[in-house]
Amino acid sequence: HTRHMGIIDVVDLSRSFGGQQAVDDLTMSVDSESITGMIGPNGSGKTTTFNLITGLLQPDSGRVEFRGTDITGWKPYRIANEGLGRTFQQARVFDEMTLEENLRTVETPDDDVDEAVDRWLSFVELDDHRHHYAGNLSGGQQVLLGIARTLMLDPDLILLDEPFAGVNPGLVDDIAALLERLRTEEGKTVLVVDHEIDEISSLCDELVVLVDGHQLLKDEPSVVREDDRVRESYLGL
Ligand code: ADP
Repeated sequence: HTRHMGIIDVVDLSRSFGGQQAVDDLTMSVDSESITGMIGPNGSGKTTTFNLITGLLQPDSGRVEFRGTDITGWKPYRIANEGLGRTFQQARVFDEMTLEENLRTVETPDDDVDEAVDRWLSFVELDDHRHHYAGNLSGGQQVLLGIARTLMLDPDLILLDEPFAGVNPGLVDDIAALLERLRTEEGKTVLVVDHEIDEISSLCDELVVLVDGHQLLKDEPSVVREDDRVRESYLGL
């Protein structure tokens, strides 16, 4: 049957490691062209959920649908080619390559590689550093370069794993503004994992709160922050 609710629909998804139920009968969806945050305490299943959505891990049961297509069990490259891109927590850039070379290592579906390189380097506002080595960039700039590499795949949905981790406060706002432009200027959907609710509240339309591998609630950040269960179990207020 068709049950197409969001750009991503996770349905009854479970995955355990040994006796540890990392993701436990999780059902959640992400609306098209939203910026959705996924938050939860350490060990609540955020990274496992990400890896299940992007094909790095296989679920024990349940499924993942992308635009209504069941992508459960697909290989990561096939999921990426379908339009679902991701970044990694440790921005994966090649230190000893220039920024331009870093982007050229990505197999873009774009016919014109030069144009794609220009487009995404300027989108993340790193064109001035085009011929510099990536290893010389700051941590925050490397996150931006990692995002640009993912954008070379021209994904409709981009998943970001803790993009603000270890980034100095000045660049946090730049990265947040960039994600907002991805939605408004490029029509992309953004799903961002963070363990700090404060960091992503102003950026996100909605927050999914994970606790013990399942969704505690999903709502606007202002509502989530006032929720008693979140305040008790997560914020420790
Ligand atoms: P989060 O990203 O929210 O911190 P994770 O998805 O990393 O949570 O982890 C959820 C639970 O699954 C934790 O208890 C963690 O120890 C366990 N877990 C995650 N990955 C593995 C793994 N590869 N092997 C064993 N246990 C794991």
